[in-house]
Order: sequence, then C-alpha cells, then structure tokens
Amino acid sequence: SPQWEKRVKYSARPRSGHFSVLVTGAAGFVGSHVSTALRRRGDGVVGLDNFNAYYDPSLKRARQTLLEQNGVFVIEGDINDNHLLKKLFDIVAFTHVMHLAAQAGVRYAMKNPGSYVHSNIAGLVSLFEACKSANPQPSIVWASSSSVYGLNSKVPFSEKDQTDQPASLYAATKKAGEEIAHTYNHIYGLSITGLRFFTVYGPWGRPDMAYFFFTKDMLKGKPISVFQGSNNKSVARDFTYIDDIVKGCLGALDTAEKSTGSGGKKKKDAQLRVFNLGNTSPVPVTKLVSILEKLLKVKAKINVLPLPRNGDVMFTHANISYARKEFGYKPTTDLQMGLQKFVNWYLDYYSISEKKNSW
Ligand code: NAD
Repeated sequence: SPQWEKRVKYSARPRSGHFSVLVTGAAGFVGSHVSTALRRRGDGVVGLDNFNAYYDPSLKRARQTLLEQNGVFVIEGDINDNHLLKKLFDIVAFTHVMHLAAQAGVRYAMKNPGSYVHSNIAGLVSLFEACKSANPQPSIVWASSSSVYGLNSKVPFSEKDQTDQPASLYAATKKAGEEIAHTYNHIYGLSITGLRFFTVYGPWGRPDMAYFFFTKDMLKGKPISVFQGSNNKSVARDFTYIDDIVKGCLGALDTAEKSTGSGGKKKKDAQLRVFNLGNTSPVPVTKLVSILEKLLKVKAKINVLPLPRNGDVMFTHANISYARKEFGYKPTTDLQMGLQKFVNWYLDYYSISEKKNSW
C-alpha cells in the first residue's frame, strides 16, 4: 500500500553522508542491537524479520517496539519472499545489506533440519539474487559463525584455518553460505563480508542460549546441565559481549567496498572477506555458572553430563588480528561485566522483584 511504501522510504532515509541499510533478522538479538546502533549514528535502516517461533516471539515483538520507537520500521516478511525483496530494492536504493536473519542454534537441527535449509541456504540465495539484480547493488555484510571451525582442534581459530569438519547441520549451512558468497562475488561482483561471531551474549539475548536459560532455571531453583569432555574439562566458549559484536559489525560495514556489478553482470573483481568476531578469551561453562551464582545470589544445582554428539564442540577461541587490522576491532567487555549487564536486563525485563510469584 502507499502507506507502507511511505513508511519504508522514510525509515530508509539517512542523514546526509550516511548509509541506507536493509537489516534482515532485525527483530533478532544481534539484529535489533545493530539496527539501533546504525539508526543512532544517522544511517537509514529498514528491518525485515519473519518473527518465527523458534523462541518466544513476544521477545521479538518487544525488540520491534523498541526499534520502532527509535525510528526503524521492521517489515514482517521472509527472506525467501522474492517479490517482497524485489519491491524493497525497487523503492529504496539501499547502499548496504546487513544480513542477520538465520536459523540459529545447533541442537534444534535434530527437530527441524528443514528450517536451516530454508533460512540459511535457500534464504541466503534468495537474498543474494535480490542484491545481484538491484540497481545499485548493495554491499553485503552477513553473519556466518564460529561453528564453521567444527572439529578442528587448533586454537585459536584463524580465518586461514580449514573449515571442512562441521559438527552440526547449522555449521554446515553456515559453511555452505560462505561458499555461496564466493560464487555471488565471483560471478556477479557483489561485495560480501562474512562475520564469524563467537557465542554472542547480552541484554535482549536469545532464550535458547545457555547463559540465558541457566539464569532462568537457577532463579527457579531448577537444576542445570553442564557438559564435559572425556578429559573431565567442561565445554569452553569465547563468549563475546553484544556491544563488542555491534562495533565489529559497524567496522565491517564501514570498510566494505562498493559492489562492482550492475544489472546482474560484474564489471571487475569485488571485495570478498571473512572475519572472526570473538573475544579472544575462552571461558569454561563451569566458570560462567559460578559468575551467574554470584550475580544472582543463587547456588546452582549442577548436573555434569558427558558431551553428547549433537553438534556442540568442546571449545571455541577466536584469533581476531585480521578484524583488528582492517577496522580496529577490539572487544572491551569481559564476561563478568557483560553478564552483570545481562542479569540487570533480565531481572528488569521479567520484573523479577515485583512479580516473583507470577512467573
Ligand atoms: P536470532 O534468532 O535472535 O535472530 C535471527 C532473526 O532472524 C530472528 O528474529 C528470526 O525471526 C529471523 N529470521 C529467521 N529466519 C528468517 C527468514 N527466513 N526470514 C526472515 N527472518 C528470519 O539470532 P541472533 O543471535 O541475533 O543471530 C543473528 C545472526 O548471527 C544469525 O545469522 C546467527 O546464525 C548468527 N550467529 C549468532 C551467534 C550468537 O551467539 N548469537 C553466533 C554465531 C552466529
């Protein structure tokens, strides 16, 4: 409708000298933070999200409400909807696409493998097709994942390492996405930057991630499960605070070159990059639990279990020197500080002190 078009155009309008960015997965955890940061500095931002029920859709709606208060219009739609994408690129000359929509999480693949293919492979191709045909072609920055390092055991993980042993369907679809990015860059001159995020956490985070459901279960007095390997060591993650990830996303966007193709044809070689965005300091999950115990003032009931073969790897650890060199990426929030901010948000969002009996 004309009203809808007007809202899209208005939301996409940047301050002079700024970008016009389409953010997919805008109602998601990372997408909502990135959209807000872009809007605050003066970029025009249009969000797109299908609001699927992989986790509590009311959390996605709450993020959307906040975004709309900050002047970011979020369209409800799927990245597989070619007509919708074409329409969007017809009415707005987006300079950039920040592609964060995906089926995230590794364990859910056992229940719903098709959703990984739908969003992370078919959806990615649908989006690249729309970008290829757009005039001008936007530069693309998209979320890959540290999970592409899979069962490789050489740490820290560097972008030059092999990524040929995915441990989950999720990892395999992110790896496939990196290969697909290569072909769209090679054939059509799309400028594409992939970001391998390492376990992102923080306020407005994802309820399917351990730090989030540990907090929930510990507050309810329920037991939590901590996995350990055959060497009795607990799983370790390079937990990276959301504000650091946002800075990395903006750094990648700001150093992205223009695409060199037009009308579906490439003119000359376009930029193709992939960066680790991590924290460079892996923390065992047992330590995560002990920090949460202090912050929540609750003693955790811990079940120690052997690591099942369901897609999780033993550890992740980023080498971030490439991102540091290209755009000065430097994470500054340690796990203790970041979890404090998460816990403050959690208690406030779920009104724990006021409504203790009602949840
Ligand atoms: P999220 O699930 O909170 O956000 C993804 C959003 O995309 C959701 O709001 C979802 O509704 C939307 N979406 C999914 N499929 C869609 C589709 N087909 N069409 C339109 N919208 C769709 O996840 P997140 O943690 O914000 O992750 C953002 C990106 O970063 C994802 O690509 C994820 O794979 C990647 N990533 C995240 C982490 C992490 O620790 N959070 C780590 C590595 C990679």
